[in-house]
Amino acid sequence: MKFKQDFFNQLPEFYSQVYPQGISHPHWLAWSDNAAQLIGLTQPNDELLLGLSGNAAVDGATYYAQVYSGHQFGGYTPRLGDGRSIILGEAIGPNGAWDVALKGGGPTPYSRHGDGRAVMRSAVREFLVSEALHHLHVPTTRALAVIGSDLPVWRESQETAAITVRLARSHIRFGHFEFFCHSERGRADKLIQLLNFTIAQHYPHLSCDPSGYKAWFLQVVQDTARMIAHWQAIGFAHGVMNTDNMSILGESFDFGPFAFLDTFQEDFICNHSDPEGRYAFGQQPGIGLWNLQRLAQALTPLIPSDDLIAALNQYQDALVQPYLRLMRAKLGLPTLAIQAEQDKQDLELIGRFTVLMEKNQLDYTQTWRRFGKIDPTSQWSSLRDDFIDTSEFDAWYQAYQRRLGSVADINAWQAERNSVNPKYILRNYLAQEAIIAVEEGNLAPLHRLQKVLSQPFAEQNEHEDLAKRPPDWGQGLIMSCSS
Ligand code: AMP
Ligand code: MG
Repeated sequence: MKFKQDFFNQLPEFYSQVYPQGISHPHWLAWSDNAAQLIGLTQPNDELLLGLSGNAAVDGATYYAQVYSGHQFGGYTPRLGDGRSIILGEAIGPNGAWDVALKGGGPTPYSRHGDGRAVMRSAVREFLVSEALHHLHVPTTRALAVIGSDLPVWRESQETAAITVRLARSHIRFGHFEFFCHSERGRADKLIQLLNFTIAQHYPHLSCDPSGYKAWFLQVVQDTARMIAHWQAIGFAHGVMNTDNMSILGESFDFGPFAFLDTFQEDFICNHSDPEGRYAFGQQPGIGLWNLQRLAQALTPLIPSDDLIAALNQYQDALVQPYLRLMRAKLGLPTLAIQAEQDKQDLELIGRFTVLMEKNQLDYTQTWRRFGKIDPTSQWSSLRDDFIDTSEFDAWYQAYQRRLGSVADINAWQAERNSVNPKYILRNYLAQEAIIAVEEGNLAPLHRLQKVLSQPFAEQNEHEDLAKRPPDWGQGLIMSCSS
């Protein structure tokens, strides 16, 4: 790995230098070739294993934990920071640089009462979901590898520690700006430094002046909205949308009790610590805006509030447009001559369908995948049998067919549906099965799952079992935050 150390060199007051503490008996649990390419790596090897487990120094790495704050479940926590993630620097790859972070690398000055570690199950989940979302074309941070160990750690019971090697184009969060606005009050100079750094690194087309700042915030609004549009379309619940878990680049980030929907449920809650459903699936678009409002507040020393509000006012459209694009593709609706009235009608058509799915307790992913098998020009649809009240379905289907119009080439149309409606998603029960196997010393199910999820749109008939709905024990699994 070749590093540049721009954050380390340019923002000395934004982190603490801290070295990872090695772990006993490090071993590879998983490795992503696809992520490795991003930083010019090919194969895992022993030298990397020692370096990325914190048992030996990595050449050129500086090792630091960043400071930030954030709104957690609606309340402001003045000082958070990387409590268990240590960044090595920005590794230079063929298409840009990626922060390399050891999540679970050991205690830092921001660990508070935590041990600085991650347990194997959470490290494996973060690895799987990062790579799965990427292959589903959802903006996300990446994961290079998971390193297991026999270091015991205590959560509700004794578990073992593991490290996820995370790659992110940036680790700057909404919470970084909040920290230098609220917690370090009067340090507008720091806020400017952070913003100028962010723009210079990631938005080189923008200038570091008032007009650049204004354009930048609008870009953050749009990128965040776009990410959430993807979540809603693919059926993904993040679970902990605190502002310290929001990447400034609009990439899915810092995964904990996330879930892909099995049965469609608008108010689905995946986080055991969220009984009120603040971060329920259907709340995500609204929370995205709330989080951007917190970011906007933190930026008031730098950007006129009129400009911030004007950008926030564009959020809804910035979310609805990509959402409509994604959902029209799922349904196969032509995207020609789209006007406001058509948008409204399409949103209603999509909404009616998800209500029907929920009422009939259908699997979100399987139901969409079935569009790749229907002949949408025929009166009869194989989808129909999934709906108890067939007359309700028929009414919807007729409206859908009217909107669809004619289809020239049914085979091509079906193939297109299969290229946007995945067959394989990271169902919680599948992650759970893979984790149990790892605990028993069997890595094969984890590697198989990883491989299948790297081609989520391909049929892969021999892996059909991984496209199934959860068994009874795996339905509505709610994960805890104790990771
Ligand atoms: P999260 O919910 O994972 O985003 O974590 C919220 C905050 O708690 C972050 O500042 C983390 O760094 C910190 N944290 C979570 N788990 C641990 C741990 N085991 N040790 C130290 N800090 C932790
Ligand atoms: Mg976090």
